[in-house]
Order: sequence, then structure tokens, then C-alpha cells
Amino acid sequence: MTDAKNVLNGVQNVVLDLDGTIYDKRGIAGRMVKKLWWCLPVLAAERLARRNAHYVQFETEEEFFTYFFRTMARGHWWTAAMAEQWYRHVYLSAMVRIIARYHQPRPEVMALIEECRRRGIPMAVYSDYGSVDSKLEALGVDPELFVLRVSAPELGALKPSAACAEKVLEMLGAKGETTLFVGDREEKDGESAKAVGARFLLIEN
Ligand SMILES: [Mg+2]
Repeated sequence: MTDAKNVLNGVQNVVLDLDGTIYDKRGIAGRMVKKLWWCLPVLAAERLARRNAHYVQFETEEEFFTYFFRTMARGHWWTAAMAEQWYRHVYLSAMVRIIARYHQPRPEVMALIEECRRRGIPMAVYSDYGSVDSKLEALGVDPELFVLRVSAPELGALKPSAACAEKVLEMLGAKGETTLFVGDREEKDGESAKAVGARFLLIEN
């Protein structure tokens, strides 16, 4: 990664992705499958629902998840309510436990975070998944370092939704041109940045 100091020139706000950016997520998919082997069809349905939800946009978290869990249940024996229970109490908590056990924050991204903290640049974590605080805690990263911790579904869609990226800036009181998005996926984080005219720093996996 480029030197944290140069990257931050002229930057007034930083929006960081979580998975794959604050920590190296390599190996997590395999570990999830191993841990959730007993519910692989549900896991597959979650993947598919996520893919289908890429370009839908809702006003609220509730509308987004109503659509998401209905999609997960379509054509299966489980209901949308069961999919929701599974997602919130099995899937996300398995991910948090795996992160706590096997994953570490990326030193170069922690250096950037430290430099922002030193300069008083407000930071946000903007994730495509929930459980942001629990994941940060699992990594040993203080959630309080970030003035805003939010997931795209809470704002009504998935990345790279332009409306959600705009809401993030609004919540931060930030302007696109002086904001830096940091992420590991060009098509998600890079496109989010582009949608609001922000700069983008790619963290390569
Ligand atoms: Mg990511």
C-alpha cells in the first residue's frame, strides 16, 4: 500500500470497508463451509440471495431484509422467518467467531487508521454485512475509533449502491471530493466511491 501520509493529503473523511480490508479475509469462505456444513443449502441460498440483491434499492433496512429473506426462502422448505433467525444467530455469529480465531487486522490498514486518528480525520466503517462492532471487537480493533459503523443493508441495499454511499457521506457530514474510500473490491467499494465522487484506495487481497 502507498504511504499512509501521502494517501491522506487533502482527505477530510475516510470510509473503510471491513471484510477483506481491515482484515485479510483469505480462507474465511472455506472455514464458514466447514463450520456450517450442517446447513450448506441455507448457506448457498444466502449467497444466491446476496447476488440477486446486488442491484435492488430500498428505503429502509426492514424493506431490504424482507426482500432478502424472502429470496433466501424461495423454493426451499424453510421460511423467510427461519432464514432470518439463521442469518442473525448462526451465520453472522459463526463469522464473528471465525474472525476472532483465525484473522488479524492488516498492519498497513491499521497504520492508516492510526494516522487518521493522529490527524483527527473522522473515520467510518461501511460494510456489506452486519455485526460491524462484533467483528471489530473480534479483531481487537476498538469500534470507538470510528465515528460511524454501518452496513449497507441498514441503509436499504448492498454495495455499490449510490444511494447508500450518499447516506454514509450524509451521516458523516462529508463531501465526496474530500472523502477517501478504502476497500478490497473495485466493483463494490471502488464503485461506491465513484458514485459519490470520492477517492478510492484499493487494498489488494
Ligand atoms: Mg470487502
